[in-house]
Amino acid sequence: MEKLIVTAAITGGLHGKAANPNLPEQPEEQIQHTIDAWNAGASIVHIHGRDETGAATQEPARYKEVFDGIRAKGCDIILQATTGGGIGMGLEERLQSIEADPEMASLNMGIVNYPLPSGTGYNLSENTPADLIWYAEKMMERNVKPEMEVYSVAMMKEVLMLIEKGLLKKPYYINFVMGMPAQGTIDATRKNLCYMIDMLPPDSIFNVCAVGPYQLPMTTYSILEGGMARVGMEDNIYYGRGEKAKSNAQLVERTIRIAKELQREIASPDEAREILGLKKLA
Ligand code: ZN
Repeated sequence: MEKLIVTAAITGGLHGKAANPNLPEQPEEQIQHTIDAWNAGASIVHIHGRDETGAATQEPARYKEVFDGIRAKGCDIILQATTGGGIGMGLEERLQSIEADPEMASLNMGIVNYPLPSGTGYNLSENTPADLIWYAEKMMERNVKPEMEVYSVAMMKEVLMLIEKGLLKKPYYINFVMGMPAQGTIDATRKNLCYMIDMLPPDSIFNVCAVGPYQLPMTTYSILEGGMARVGMEDNIYYGRGEKAKSNAQLVERTIRIAKELQREIASPDEAREILGLKKLA
């Protein structure tokens, strides 16, 4: 098995401090959570920008501020921006984050329909095949490696489509997003994970993230199956039943502990760059 790459998804695009006051929103909080997660053993940070009010933003300057702040602290973690963004954002707006030159960016591989937190309707994240091609082309142009977010078995078809069009470089990095309470997503079960692993094309590396109480078991299954693990407060605001997470680092620490007990070695950021085919840091 490859060494384990742990991603810390520190801030998502949906919930904020109302869900867990420890969730980082402002740049200085995001920088500190990243440093702490890196010290705990994470080698990728996945970030959603937030504006001064805490609302999701894809403003490149906001990402740049966070990225520069992380590097200024001597932290060599791999920087990954979302292109999923937040509620109500259009395709062009979502893609803006790559202008801040992250090393990686998420690439949502199909249609997901999220119920709004207010309960008054849905947020449709469209992602047609033409959109995926456009996103992949833009990422290739800027030398940003996509992490393909696969929410269901059906989205594996789009992975193959992008490979066929020559829009992805090896190794293909696929994140199985499981247990989202949204239309178009797959349930977080071991059987579903095994099925999706079986469908991976050659030269793929897979990562797993899962929502809420599924985060711990599903990422642990992934570690056992030779995959990577994404934890953090974007996907899960709890540490245990009824116990809110104190920090992203707390969730990373547990995953690192489990992996070590399972005799899986942990990849440093530089080792993760080598595994993923990313350029070394200058
Ligand atoms: Zn995200």
